[in-house]
Amino acid sequence: MKLTSTRDAAARVTPAAAILRGISPDGGLFVPTEFPAVSLKEMREMAGEDYRARAMRILSAFLTDYDEKTLKGYIEKAYGAQFDGDSPAPVSKLENGKYVLELWHGPTMAFKDMALQLLPHLLTGASKMLGSHQRSLILAATSGDTGKAAMAGFADVPDTAILVFYPHGGVSEAQRLQMVTQRGGNVSAMAVEGNFDDTQTGVKNIFGDKDMTDWLHERGWRFTSANSINFGRLVPQVVYYFSAYADLVQKDEIRCGDPVNFVVPTGNFGNILAGYYAKRMGLPMNRLVCASNSNNVLSEFFADGHYNSHREFHKTLSPSMDILISSNLERLLFEVCGRDGETVKAWMDQLKQKGSYAVPGTVQNHIRENFWAAWADDGMTSEAIGDAFKQYHYLMDPHTAVGYRVYQDYRDITGDDTATVLVSTASPFKFCKDVAHALGERGERSDLEWAKWLTEKSGLVPPESFSELYELPVRHKGVCEKEAMEEAVQNFVASL
Ligand SMILES: *Cc1c(COP(=O)(O)O)cnc(C)c1O
Repeated sequence: MKLTSTRDAAARVTPAAAILRGISPDGGLFVPTEFPAVSLKEMREMAGEDYRARAMRILSAFLTDYDEKTLKGYIEKAYGAQFDGDSPAPVSKLENGKYVLELWHGPTMAFKDMALQLLPHLLTGASKMLGSHQRSLILAATSGDTGKAAMAGFADVPDTAILVFYPHGGVSEAQRLQMVTQRGGNVSAMAVEGNFDDTQTGVKNIFGDKDMTDWLHERGWRFTSANSINFGRLVPQVVYYFSAYADLVQKDEIRCGDPVNFVVPTGNFGNILAGYYAKRMGLPMNRLVCASNSNNVLSEFFADGHYNSHREFHKTLSPSMDILISSNLERLLFEVCGRDGETVKAWMDQLKQKGSYAVPGTVQNHIRENFWAAWADDGMTSEAIGDAFKQYHYLMDPHTAVGYRVYQDYRDITGDDTATVLVSTASPFKFCKDVAHALGERGERSDLEWAKWLTEKSGLVPPESFSELYELPVRHKGVCEKEAMEEAVQNFVASL
């Protein structure tokens, strides 16, 4: 398997090189030159396998330069006891034809774990394979979920270290505690006096600072990015689409070969893009339903072909989807415009210069054959949490509820009753207060008390890691000015 770039279709790199580099030198994203095919026979076999065996099939089809035994070892480490329950990605049934794929049974209670538990291993493997003698320093800016998932994934992984920056006062209490209590000799988190944009800009500037890069080099380190455009985050996400399908076949909910829909709460377009890759590999899929919150730039794009990021930014109940520039959409554009790197590059240049671009009707049609998109505001999201609980006694978080609401609209408008899987991206306990509010409860309580209330209401118990959060010692107490982020990196490296 070779990869190419969305902005230069002549480029060729190995999977390991793509994972190590993160982004192509031409500014494009790495994409496979072709999609490996998975036959119905293989899907039938997958029905009898566990998540790890399914992951091995899909990952080895993409990561052909990784030794099979090594890859197997990585998978065992990544999808082990840190996930609660029998499977890292179980499917719950609401009623015949309606299912929920739960991607939040990992250490941070959100779907980023599905990829970030594996990525550190893929990265160190790539580094070894390519004979690099430098250790990887991961810097990340986070608005909440990614930071902790990356810290948990990289904790005590040899030859790596990770420093996460988050906006001081800009993340939820549970999210902050998750980061500042993270164990591991090679991890740290730092609050920045500024908002998320300041934090992200600070990290980008450090990545681009030659003096800083040289300084690191001399000490045996190299900057690496773990963000969602890394190919090593995309491939692990393809696995759970196949796994959900295999589960439905195994439980006789569908016959192997029957099409299904997937509904995906979307921000940066990474999760849903992995679903599209699964479809291209042969997974029988009818529609991918793309669900946005009030930051509805994607549903507008799918409706009229105009991508316009110049608009008001809304802070919503589903913060991990508060995004105006969906980076991974670039990978879809590459596929639907006939793999023409120059065209993609022109659109992305326009996006950078004017904040918008438009695609022609042929491209729009291609997208509509595969996707359906809509959005829900905070009021509809809360209502959806209430509806799902009333109708199915199923408790969902606000991100998942955006998907639930959009699926209701999809059914009403299209009449499509194909079996459908709603992809659930976070545990309701990660957003206790908002979920309790949606169920009609009011008043002032601590996070822990809200969690208790939810347990009494639903019978659902939060994972141990959640209650533990409020008792663990705080390890990372640092706060810095946004001008002092470089210094924070140097201090961190010196402490390693
Ligand atoms: C990151 C995230 C999303 C959005 O996923 P994308 O791959 O960026 O589209 C949705 N829900 C939760 C809880 C997340 O953490």
